[in-house]
Amino acid sequence: MSDSIRRFLFEGAPIRGEIVQLDATWRAVLERHAYPPLLQTLLGEMMAASALLSATLKFDGAMLMQVQGTGALQLLVVECTSAGTLRATAKWDGLPENAGFAELLRGARCAITLIQPDGSQSYQGVVEVVGDSVAEMLMHYMQHSEQIETSLTVSADGTRAGGLLLQRLPEAADDDVDRWDRVRMLAGTVEASELLGLAPADVVRRLFHEEDIRLFEPQPLAFRCSCSKARVESMLTMLGPEEVESVLAERGHVEVTCDFCNRTYRFDPVDAAQLFTGGTRSPGSTTRH
Ligand SMILES: [Zn+2]
Repeated sequence: MSDSIRRFLFEGAPIRGEIVQLDATWRAVLERHAYPPLLQTLLGEMMAASALLSATLKFDGAMLMQVQGTGALQLLVVECTSAGTLRATAKWDGLPENAGFAELLRGARCAITLIQPDGSQSYQGVVEVVGDSVAEMLMHYMQHSEQIETSLTVSADGTRAGGLLLQRLPEAADDDVDRWDRVRMLAGTVEASELLGLAPADVVRRLFHEEDIRLFEPQPLAFRCSCSKARVESMLTMLGPEEVESVLAERGHVEVTCDFCNRTYRFDPVDAAQLFTGGTRSPGSTTRH
C-alpha cells in the first residue's frame, strides 16, 4: 500500500524501524509548483524523512521540518501532522544549474518544530546543515539534537518518495551486541529502486530476512493543506487596515496565495472592508439573559 507508513520491531531487541512510501501525496506537491530537479529530490526526500521522524515522536499537532538557506536556496519546508497529513514547499532564487547538495546548503540550518493544535510551538531543535544528503543532514540532527542513534535512507523521483529508518532505543542494552551494526549495515544496502518500487513489507522482509521482525499494519498518509479563508482573513486582520487599504488602492483587490497548495484567496474592497467592521454576530456568541 502506497501513501502509508509501517512500523516494525526487531523482536527482543531495542531497535525499532519505520518504512514509508509516498505516491499521490508526493505527486500532489509536485503538481502545485514546478521545482527544479535538485529541489524536487531534496523536497521529496525531506517529505519521506519527515513522515519517518514524526512517527517516532509522540506529539499532537504538527511537526515542521525546515531547512533555511543563505544562498540561492532560501527555504525547504515539510509539515507532517499527527493525523497523517503532509504538505511541503520550497523557496529559491536563481538556482545554479549544476549545484550539489553541499554547495546549495552551505551555511544553512535545519530546524524541527512541534506545533500544538492551538498553534503554539512546543519544541524546536536547530542544527547546522552538515553532510552531503538529506539523510546525512537528518542523521546528524538526530545525533546532536535528540541523542538517538538513527539510520536513515531516503529517496525520491518524479512520482514517488520513500524511506527507511532504524533507531537504537537508548534505554535498553541488546544481548546480541553486534545486532545494531549488522542491521544498520543491511539498511544501508537498500536501493532507491527498492524503496520506490517494491511494497514496503517486501523491502523489510528482504533486508532483514535473518532477523525476527514484527511488522505492524500500515498507517495511511495523505496530502492536505491546512490553509483556509478564515486563516487568511485573520492574517489580513493582523496586518491592519492601513496595509490592506494600501494594497487595495494599488491593485483594486487583495490576493493571498498559499505557498503550500498554491490556492489563491481573493478579497475585493467589500470583502476587505468587512475584515475590519467587527463582523457579524454568530449565534454561539449571543448572551443569555
Ligand atoms: Zn494551502
